[in-house]
Amino acid sequence: MYNSASIDPVIATLHTMPKNGFITRNLHSDRRDSPEHGVLHKAIHTSVAYGYADSRELAEVFQGRRAGYNYGRQLNPTVTALQNKVTQMEDGIGSVAFATGMAAIASTMFALLKEGDHIVSSAFLFGNTNSLFNTIKRLGVEVTFVDATQARFIENALQDNTRLVFVETIANPVTQIADLVAIGQLCSVRNLVYCVDNTMTSPHLFTPNTVGASLVVNSLTKYIGGHGNALGGSITDTGLYDWAGFPNIDESYRGLDPSQQGITQIKKKGLRDIGASLGPEAAHHLAVGSETLPLRLDRACANAKTLAEYCQQHPKVANTYYPGLDNHPQHDRAKQLFKNFGAIFSIDLDATIDCFDFLNAMDNVIASSNLGDNRTLAIPVAHTIYYEMGAERRASMGISDNLIRFSVGIEDIDDLLADFDKALA
Ligand SMILES: *Cc1c(COP(=O)(O)O)cnc(C)c1O
Repeated sequence: MYNSASIDPVIATLHTMPKNGFITRNLHSDRRDSPEHGVLHKAIHTSVAYGYADSRELAEVFQGRRAGYNYGRQLNPTVTALQNKVTQMEDGIGSVAFATGMAAIASTMFALLKEGDHIVSSAFLFGNTNSLFNTIKRLGVEVTFVDATQARFIENALQDNTRLVFVETIANPVTQIADLVAIGQLCSVRNLVYCVDNTMTSPHLFTPNTVGASLVVNSLTKYIGGHGNALGGSITDTGLYDWAGFPNIDESYRGLDPSQQGITQIKKKGLRDIGASLGPEAAHHLAVGSETLPLRLDRACANAKTLAEYCQQHPKVANTYYPGLDNHPQHDRAKQLFKNFGAIFSIDLDATIDCFDFLNAMDNVIASSNLGDNRTLAIPVAHTIYYEMGAERRASMGISDNLIRFSVGIEDIDDLLADFDKALA
């Protein structure tokens, strides 16, 4: 009943689908990939285990000679359907989903790196990724943090043992944009794994394969899920990196086609051995959320631009950081690479305003740490998500004590503007 392609997440079955547009492909992927009862949504499969009438088939599945499910920690049909959607959105060759975005990043680093390796990372990083990279130093992996807005800083940091370069598209909270094209060229020349965290842009605004990324990270929790009701993360292999030249591929996977070696190692050493698996219910929520990604994000970007422009001209706001503003240092880069400027912006409040009083005066904007929700969320980052990293590192990232980050949602813009009016008054 199943062909191998429909049940192995690593094989991108959906490449065989007609090349429809982004939304059409997403909406119809479950229907085309699920023969069960003609369902339009992949069912939520809760079974942990799978039974085989012929025990030889079970053995073949374990040996990778037959496609099939063996145990829920590694593979689940509902999760596979979501992985296929992500692969399709990112135009990759295969994806692995995890319980959270952090699980995806941590499991990938664990799967691909070993003691004595070196990675170069953007210094402008999601706080927990920053924390993770400091933790992996304890395991004997060297990490150099550099300003990734210019590829030459990355280049200067490369060593003989550098294996991987990690950047985010639009960094949070000050919205620096990595020198994505030039870093891609550099990684290609030096044969380095180029890992791009696409969470802030999502595959609607940008697909990192267009700048030569090897691996793409998405926190599915954010824009792809979009409703703040499920956690999830993913890694997508774009098919652009030649894993035959990567020294850390385990002997067990060297026999595979080189294009499959990296993603297989992430699936086995990362997902299977660490076990940060995405549950089927969460996968279903995220898949439904992904159907409206372009509609939601277009609206959120438009709202963000209006609010950022409003703040920029307001006397009580000292600085406004948004890639859609003409004076943003990487405005032209954003315009060239991304379909829109994103839905995150930050402001430094004038010193006369207390950031907590400001937030407490708002009705529709919620004080909250998430981002990528349909609702507009705001957070005083120095006192919360970047508190643990200390004043010095915060200063190096351009994070002041009076900086507030907004993750703009899809509310009616007049209601949001009214909140800003009131809180700044
Ligand atoms: C939120 C986020 C993550 C981590 O995702 P979780 O799903 O919360 O674990 C990673 N990178 C970026 C850029 C994020 O915004």
